[in-house]
Parts: sequence; C-alpha cells; structure tokens
Amino acid sequence: MEQVQQQVRQEIERAKEYLRNYDGEQVNLMEVCGTHTHEIFRLGIRSLLSPKIRLISGPGCPVCVTGADFIDEAVYLAKQGAIITTFGDLVRVPGTKQSLAEARADGADIRVVYAPVDALDLALQYPERQVVFLSVGFETTTPAECLAVKMAKEQGVRNFTLLTANKTMLQAYRAMANKNKLIFLYPGHVHAIIGTGICRELAEREGISGVVSGFTAYELLAAITVAVKKAQANEPFFVNAYPRVVSEEGSLAGKALMEEVMVPCSAYWRGIGVMEGSGLALSDAYAEFDARKRFAVPEMEGRENPACRCGEILQGKCLPPDCPLFGKACTPEHAVGACMVSGEGTCSAFYLYGNTTVEEKVL
Ligand code: SF4
Repeated sequence: MEQVQQQVRQEIERAKEYLRNYDGEQVNLMEVCGTHTHEIFRLGIRSLLSPKIRLISGPGCPVCVTGADFIDEAVYLAKQGAIITTFGDLVRVPGTKQSLAEARADGADIRVVYAPVDALDLALQYPERQVVFLSVGFETTTPAECLAVKMAKEQGVRNFTLLTANKTMLQAYRAMANKNKLIFLYPGHVHAIIGTGICRELAEREGISGVVSGFTAYELLAAITVAVKKAQANEPFFVNAYPRVVSEEGSLAGKALMEEVMVPCSAYWRGIGVMEGSGLALSDAYAEFDARKRFAVPEMEGRENPACRCGEILQGKCLPPDCPLFGKACTPEHAVGACMVSGEGTCSAFYLYGNTTVEEKVL
C-alpha cells in the first residue's frame, strides 16, 4: 500500500512539474462540469498551471443553465397548492418575480429531497396532495428521475409528476466547440452513464478533442496533463482518463431507463439559447406524469436580472470578477444569479476559492 502511495505521489509531482513549466502553444481547456470547476479551485490546481494553459469553465452546472422560466413554472405550481420537491440548490435560484425560497416564505410548500424516489414516497404519504419533483440535470441524474416515474406508473400513483428541464451534453459540446477552439475536460459522471462512444465520434468525425476526467487531484492532474501533451500533435483526440468508472458503452441500465421514459426535445440553456435535441421530456407513454400537461402550466416570461452575466460566464466569454455585482451585491448568501447560488456554479467557485494559491492543496 505504501509503495502505491509513493508511486502516486511521484506521478503527481511529475504532472505538477510538467504543467507548471509548460511553455508550448497556448492550450485552452474547458471543464464542462461544475464539480470539476469546484474541485479544480478547491485543490488549488489553477495556481499550478503555466500561463500557457488556460482553464475555462463551461455550461456544466445544471442549475446554472436552467432558465428563470422554469423557476416561474415551479412557483406557479406551488401557488396552485402542489408540494414542490427539489434538490436544494434550485430553491434560491431567482425566478422572474420570486425564487422558490421567497414563495416558501409566502406559504408555498417547497421541500428539499435527496433523491427523486423521496418525492415519490412523499406522494404516497400525502395521497390527497399533488407532489411535483423538479427534474433538472444532465444524464447523471436523469436515470434516477426516470426510475421514480416508472415506479409511480407501476404502482398506479396518481399524485406524482415531474416538471422537466433535463438536458443532454452532446449539443452543448458542439455549441461550445464551434465558438471556441477548445479541448474539453469531459464530466466523468455524465460519461459513466452515456459512455465514451460519443466522445470518440466527436474527435473522429467532427474534430472535437477532449479527455474524460475523474474528480480527485490525481485524476484531474492526469487528465489535464494528457490533454496538454496530446494537444502538441495538433490532431483531434479523445482519451478516457477515468477508466476505473467510465467505459465505452456506459451504463446500459441507465441508458435503457432514459430511452424508455424520456424522448429528446429542444431545450433552453442560459447563455447558449435554445438548442434542438438538447433536452429530454417525458415520452407519450409517461405523459400523465408530466406536470406541464397535467396542470396546463401557462407559458412563463422567464426574465433574468439584466445585470447578471451568468450567460456570458457559462460560455467562457468572461470571468465572475468581470461582473460588477460579483462579491458585492452578489454573494452566495445573497445571490443575484444562478451561477452564485449553485454549489457547482462558476461564480460560487470563484467566490469561495478565488484566492487559492496554496498549491500543496493538490496533495
Ligand atoms: Fe450573475 Fe452574480 Fe455571477 Fe454576477 S456574480 S454573473 S450577478 S451570479
């Protein structure tokens, strides 16, 4: 065991030295995962890199890319008397007029759950109430949402629905790659579900390069090192640097669940706009569990604070400190935009770890 630790430590030291002293062509890496953004900051990895290696945070935080119109829909349903169930981050995201936290202060029934099946349990517990789960996320969380709906159907539950804003990553990769010459640090947990086939195809057919990365210091440093080294050949490439979790085919069970319960749809991404085929909605077979259909939710305005620059930050066009509200009117305690609310958001990462300079944190 000690020998393995020693070997890992030596490899980390070699990677640190390479990345610190790199003096070749500028390399632009985009981490398309909010957890990567936060871990890279928290571990002090940015401070290790040569100025010739630029890390750009992309649209990889599901809460951050979800528009204000979705919050408006959830607030509307809460005001109709539904129990709204959600993961915690969404509660404080501003809507056009109110966040869910503000609606709760007005008496709405908003509850934080840790899994979609918890929302289903709540529906079984309160058969006289309608329970809506806010289904927001990428392929990482979508199978769990599909499972809850499938269970609800099998059990004949009539008071459980999803309000969906599920998204898939492929179109986002294409949108970002077209705008910038980037190498992606692909999100390990998304590709644990969908596999690496699409990454390989993006490299071979569309010239889009990337490396799938895990989340530890060792995994992140290894992935960044591989990306920088591969970039030297000036050829499109793909490397799976997280093979202990991610396979070529991904999770067959997870993919089968998504295919059974959901179908592709167009979706709005904050900063990018509407992209065809970049979302998932409930299929006809599960339409009775679609909150929009069951409650005839009207179309919402979805107006965001015009001073907030989340949209540009999510495209890597500017950094959080470029926003005049950053750290002043907008902090994690009093967030103006989704990127500061979310525990995966770029603004919150800059706020929490922006002064990180202690490179030893990598160890
Ligand atoms: Fe929006 Fe706040 Fe980030 Fe500015 S600092 S872009 S207001 S979330």
